[in-house]
Amino acid sequence: MDICLLGTGGMLPLCDRFLTSCYIEQGGRAVLIDCGEGTQVAAAAAKAKISRIEAILITHAHADHVTGLPGLLLSVANTGKTSPLEIYFPASAQGIITALLTVAGRLPYEIRLVPLGMSGETAFPLTCIDPMLEVRALPLRHSVDCIGYSLTLTHKRVFLPERADALGVPPNKRGILHSGGSITVEGREITPDMVTAEPRPPQKLTYVTDTLPIDEIADFAKGSRLFICEGMYGDRAKKPDMDKKGHMLMQDACALAARAGAECLWLTHYSPAESDPSAFEAELKELFPAVVISTDGQRTAL
Ligand SMILES: [Zn+2]
Ligand SMILES: [Zn+2]
Repeated sequence: MDICLLGTGGMLPLCDRFLTSCYIEQGGRAVLIDCGEGTQVAAAAAKAKISRIEAILITHAHADHVTGLPGLLLSVANTGKTSPLEIYFPASAQGIITALLTVAGRLPYEIRLVPLGMSGETAFPLTCIDPMLEVRALPLRHSVDCIGYSLTLTHKRVFLPERADALGVPPNKRGILHSGGSITVEGREITPDMVTAEPRPPQKLTYVTDTLPIDEIADFAKGSRLFICEGMYGDRAKKPDMDKKGHMLMQDACALAARAGAECLWLTHYSPAESDPSAFEAELKELFPAVVISTDGQRTAL
């Protein structure tokens, strides 16, 4: 998976900081998480291939996460896309999503709306990107319904013909092993794991923003190669205000990353008032050494 954080701002786009949004590409298809005002400009600045977007995951219907939809969808239309595009969002946001689609007008591709419930964690394969890519959706705690997403790409075991030959597997029986069945050769049982390589470990990305630092997030992000998390402020004096508004501090994100055992943490969704988030780097690295004070266009491959 190739990952690019298109923007790192919360609340308002700034001249030098786009709103938080994440572009993830896998096998030539892409999924976008969040789409605040101006996301199509952020995508252009990061040279993200928006024609490849097959799905958009919306965390919640606050303006800084959703009002970029009409512009982005129209920009995608300009690329000549004709295949359907799926939009996932908290079910209570359906009215706002529908209104934004009205603004976008007639598009040359079908939009498929997928409302998600808030009664508990859900999981589904994102087959429009890759059947091996699973999305998990966790209800968060914000001032409106808000969802955290994790994307996990698992890998098939690769068939090793030389091992099958060595075990005397006849060519016409290989298909059974391929599809997960076992066969018997000269009285000996041959199982699929005997003729396949160890699979690569799954690649997991977790994206959580606009929430109190609830305990469930640590479990949800467990095993993440990359954990992208809100860090509105680095000033601990802002904590009571964050508690009131349903947000978290950079230090909260570091504590969650440590509990989750994440390999790496990218901070995002900085307050417009936080002009230099990197000022807190030394303190944050003591809490979680693999923290990155992300900037727009931050990218990596998992
Ligand atoms: Zn926000
Ligand atoms: Zn919000």
